[in-house]
Amino acid sequence: MILDKEYRILVVDDAKDTQLLLEFDLGAAGYQVTSCDSGEESLVLLDTLAIDLILLDMYMPGLSGLETLTKIKAQAKSAQIPVIMLSASTDEDEVVASLELGAGDYVIKPYVAKVLLARIRTAIRLKEKTAQLEYLAKTDFLTSMNNRGSFFELSSNAISLANRAEQPLVVAMFDIDLFKQVNDNFGHDAGDQVLRVFGQNMTEVFRDYDIVGRIGGEEFAVCLPNTSSGDAYIACERLRQQVEQQRINITNTDSKNIKINITVSVGLVLADDDYLTIDELLKQADSALYFAKENGRNQVVDVGTLIHLVEAEVENDLIRASLIATDNILSVADSNAIVVNYDGIDFDIGVNNVLGDKDLFKEILVMFYQDHHLDGQKLQRAIQKQDIETAKHIAHTLKGVACSVGAMDLFEATKALDIAINDDQQDDFVGLFSLLSPELSRVMKGIELHLDVS
Ligand code: GH3
Ligand code: MG
Ligand code: MG
Repeated sequence: MILDKEYRILVVDDAKDTQLLLEFDLGAAGYQVTSCDSGEESLVLLDTLAIDLILLDMYMPGLSGLETLTKIKAQAKSAQIPVIMLSASTDEDEVVASLELGAGDYVIKPYVAKVLLARIRTAIRLKEKTAQLEYLAKTDFLTSMNNRGSFFELSSNAISLANRAEQPLVVAMFDIDLFKQVNDNFGHDAGDQVLRVFGQNMTEVFRDYDIVGRIGGEEFAVCLPNTSSGDAYIACERLRQQVEQQRINITNTDSKNIKINITVSVGLVLADDDYLTIDELLKQADSALYFAKENGRNQVVDVGTLIHLVEAEVENDLIRASLIATDNILSVADSNAIVVNYDGIDFDIGVNNVLGDKDLFKEILVMFYQDHHLDGQKLQRAIQKQDIETAKHIAHTLKGVACSVGAMDLFEATKALDIAINDDQQDDFVGLFSLLSPELSRVMKGIELHLDVS
């Protein structure tokens, strides 16, 4: 018989003649054989050798067969190795006891070689099938990475260990930017190819003991044990740059091979506090990721830095408030010190987009008003007339501008309509427009209130 790979069998028997006989029969059948005389010795060997199956004698001086079996099954390293018990006795209680302790089978000595070999083959095949099933249950079929369930399980274990050892641990979430456009422009298969390449990128960049996984459609995550947020940031940033620079080979819907670029946004969080679960950490990483998306994508954002930003903002608000108070006393006007709330607009995001130039941003808001305050009516008319081209153009432009002026709710509402138009989901147009329209009015009224738009 030819075996499809080299299997090593460990024979544990105090009788030298049985050892020799087994070495002969198993060797003739193509197995590698290692023999030892006692349960104690077998435990040492199992610690160092890669063993595929154990033949274990029931009666031995020192550790008995059942005692040895108990220890084998108690050790993580050997617990999964199939064990076949060998015994001269047919004591039924013993057979039952050994099976209950985890032996896979029981063979009576003197054995019939053909029967023993058949049982060995079955035991090994069963073990391999089980391992395959386990692999499939834990693996994402597209990228061969950990799937969501497996990522959560492995990360939860890593978090417990980190807590016990009081070591820092980082969780980061990755979301491919504008991935829907890859599917829309080049087809779903191309999208799948991109996901596979990104999975490889992740596996290459992170260390062997980091836990990487695909946790959703185009969402990936990594759990980095014993890592500071600074080091994690560097690793994520390296991955982000590698992704940005690489040209990915894809086959488009016309079966043409082309190269495309993608980018990825990343949110990361440092766990240095007890009792955080992987769900909670991912939620925090996700909020940093959301911030990355809102601020232009293709960047790594650390929750820790976000918290500093918020703190700095609170501090700024306090300073502004005290300035305004002083203002009232001294009647010194500083237009920048007074907080003006533009409805529906995150002023700071908008100002950041123009490198902090507030006056420039105000001019941009005026232009935004002049160019787009009638967009609601235009969109409504286009949707009513089923003029999809026009509707598409307006929604798409408005989406981009809304984002750059920091009108984030308007951006989300327009994005939803834009997606529906791209996907030709006509039934959704009116509903989505009815969400967009009041938001657009709110933003425009806010600008009208504070700036001279005439
Ligand atoms: P953003 O930058 O805001 O993340 O934009 P996006 O287009 O990446 O985000 P969105 O969530 O709108 O779109 C994600 C798309 O991913 C939609 C879905 O069709 C696609 N997707 C999810 N799973 C798979 C998959 O297994 N294969 C392919 N090809 N596409 C997938
Ligand atoms: Mg995405
Ligand atoms: Mg997404």
